[in-house]
Amino acid sequence: MIAVIPEGVVREIFVHADEDFPNEACGFLFGKRNEEWKVTAIRKATNTLKSPTLFEIPAEEIYLAWMDAEKKGLDVIGVYHSHPYAPPRPSGRDLEYMRNSDFIWIIAGNAELKAYYWKGKILEVKIDVRDMKWEWI
Ligand SMILES: [Zn+2]
Repeated sequence: MIAVIPEGVVREIFVHADEDFPNEACGFLFGKRNEEWKVTAIRKATNTLKSPTLFEIPAEEIYLAWMDAEKKGLDVIGVYHSHPYAPPRPSGRDLEYMRNSDFIWIIAGNAELKAYYWKGKILEVKIDVRDMKWEWI
């Protein structure tokens, strides 16, 4: 399983990380999940904790993301967040949330992007960055 991510999305995740620095930035990844996780749209989310080591997305933003994805015929296939002071490895708290999720987690840290998926244990998903179309939704 791989995560296909448009070049522009990679760039925007790092821009968002810079904007929200020194706090964690977070957002949604939309697309279609087939044999691969293909990201075709993203949306910024609010980190209500405004913390350099934690993030939490408000319930109404999560609800809206799912509703808007459905309207567009897309799925919410993941979330991204930044680690302003840490490498892009899941924190203990990230792992707790991952256990209850069925999508990819992309973490930006140390100028690097990593993707993970929980399947009984934490798996790193290979990222394939491609020059392809994407949009904000
Ligand atoms: Zn984290």
